[in-house]
Amino acid sequence: MKIEFSERAKRIKASEIRELLKLTVQPEIISFAGGLPAAELFPLEQIAEVAGDVVLKEGKAALQYSPTEGLKRLREIIIAQRLNPIHIEATLDEISITSGSQQALDFTGKMFINEGDTVIVESPTYLGALNAFLAYNPNYVEIPLQEDGMDMDKLEEVLESGVKPKFIYTIPDYQNPSGITMSEEKRRRLIDIANKYDLIIVEDSPYAELCFDGKQLDPIKSLDTEGRVIYMGTYSKTFTPGLRIGWVVGNPTIINKFIQVKQGADLQTSSIDQRIAAEYMSRYDLNEHIRMIIDVYSKRRDVMLDTMKKTFHKDITFTESTGGLFTWVNVRKDIDTKELMQEALKENVAFVPGASFFASSGHNNYMRLNYSCMPEDKIRVGIERLAKVLNKYYE
Ligand code: PMP
Repeated sequence: MKIEFSERAKRIKASEIRELLKLTVQPEIISFAGGLPAAELFPLEQIAEVAGDVVLKEGKAALQYSPTEGLKRLREIIIAQRLNPIHIEATLDEISITSGSQQALDFTGKMFINEGDTVIVESPTYLGALNAFLAYNPNYVEIPLQEDGMDMDKLEEVLESGVKPKFIYTIPDYQNPSGITMSEEKRRRLIDIANKYDLIIVEDSPYAELCFDGKQLDPIKSLDTEGRVIYMGTYSKTFTPGLRIGWVVGNPTIINKFIQVKQGADLQTSSIDQRIAAEYMSRYDLNEHIRMIIDVYSKRRDVMLDTMKKTFHKDITFTESTGGLFTWVNVRKDIDTKELMQEALKENVAFVPGASFFASSGHNNYMRLNYSCMPEDKIRVGIERLAKVLNKYYE
């Protein structure tokens, strides 16, 4: 049989690093490659109790179809618990539940990108967003990240030159992959730029609440007076990714279109999962749970950074993230971290080579390290192994 995929499907390819990453699940390997939250911190007993009650007490509704935009009760909880505290005021017609923020990214591509349209992304940026948008064949324009977020001068320069993007995609808090946070000043400047050039901003913020130093910044959405920011949140990193519950917040016209697109994609996010989330959030204080996660992750981050400072050659630089899951390492320009990964695997340590986080090719001298899913002693040993491999290139 001749199988003829669409051009769109042909563009979607398994990433070349996936094969490499498959090797990293072997037990002897200390892997900094994942981007997962620490499973040992999931509140299993509470979720078991809540899930049992949901089935027994509201089972008929929980197992039935439900509205595409999501359970009203859950949307109210998200507005009150997750949005209002960060100064996003949203009404019920300005929020829709999505099956993780990944779905919101796909729908954003579907809703806005015609073939060849320009999309502005940070350089580097989240691989999963690049792939989601790629199905709709955009032309990516990359804006470099600086220590305090996207280079706004460069952004203005690009827009001034006549580039008209469909939207600007940004991850302002503890960015994946770089761990970088956009400063308050740049958030203000970005919204001013978007207002000036009449642009949509897509603000993807799964990590903001994993803030280690108590200095969580207000989202760009909170500065939005013209309804031009589409904000994406999720329970994946603060509660559990397995429930697949995210949310998208935006002006009612945009949210209405999201709901129409979602109807054609999956009708709704799982009724029972939404009810489990809503019931958990009513009975327990998620903020308390988040504080516990922060305590564990920040110690793991400390161990990773301390060990890197002690063992890495002095010319190797890395970001000192103040939240989230990642640090981003910059090695000498002539070192290809994909090759380095082969060497690292021989020493039983793994990371993600940085090249796949760029829309363009040629960025081979970076790597992403995750500190959330390894205990401190393993982080220490893993970084020592990595230093051994890396430092050889600097002899
Ligand atoms: N955006 C970013 C920046 C991410 O890092 C992730 C998860 N790795 C997602 C979106 C998707 O998260 P989810 O679909 O689980 O909400």
